Amino acid sequence: MKIEENVYALKSTKGSYAYLIKDKETILIDTGQPGKVKNILKEIDSINIKPKNIKHILLTHHDVDHIGNAALLQEETGATLWALKEDIPYILGDKSRPGLKKIVAGLLMRVKKPEKVKAYNSQEIDDIKIIQTPGHTPGHVSFLYKDILFAGDLVRNDKGVLKKIPSFLPGMNADEESLKESILKVSEYSFKWVCPAHGEPLKVKDEWKQLLNNIAGN
Ligand SMILES: [Zn+2]
Repeated sequence: MKIEENVYALKSTKGSYAYLIKDKETILIDTGQPGKVKNILKEIDSINIKPKNIKHILLTHHDVDHIGNAALLQEETGATLWALKEDIPYILGDKSRPGLKKIVAGLLMRVKKPEKVKAYNSQEIDDIKIIQTPGHTPGHVSFLYKDILFAGDLVRNDKGVLKKIPSFLPGMNADEESLKESILKVSEYSFKWVCPAHGEPLKVKDEWKQLLNNIAGN
């Protein structure tokens, strides 16, 4: 699904969207739920991109539904895999995930773990700005590319309404207060699209303001 010129939501990852940007280099944002590698490569091929064209895989955070195909895609593409340093130990399996996420990760034991994850060491990769947005996980990041915000699990789109990831399940959000601060921080940037992992990409007007009001009212 094309969002803007050279920016795609990969429909093969619907449910936990990965996004593709064809900038100076081709870049993948997140990798979706486990078991999707074949379909992802097929979809990428249909937009005329060969696996070797992908130079970077940028992870928003460590959750299994985002890193599900990271190891295999890294092998197929030879891309550099990136995450924020706080989340890397979870991705490599050196730290166990909290609460329910531990159970989910346990059920998905056979998901291959990447061998090497590089820590973001600057504010930008190509023309993509890296915004640190901790809360959902300690090392969660969002990305701004032109007028598109790639939000990971900072927010989700629930049928056209931007919402925070609910916190009623244990361990779902690592730190509620920093999550709220991160949502506030992102409101200082301007963008026309919000591309979350969960829910469809959303063209925004005042949605972020409404989201902040909702959160303040909680
Ligand atoms: Zn998620």
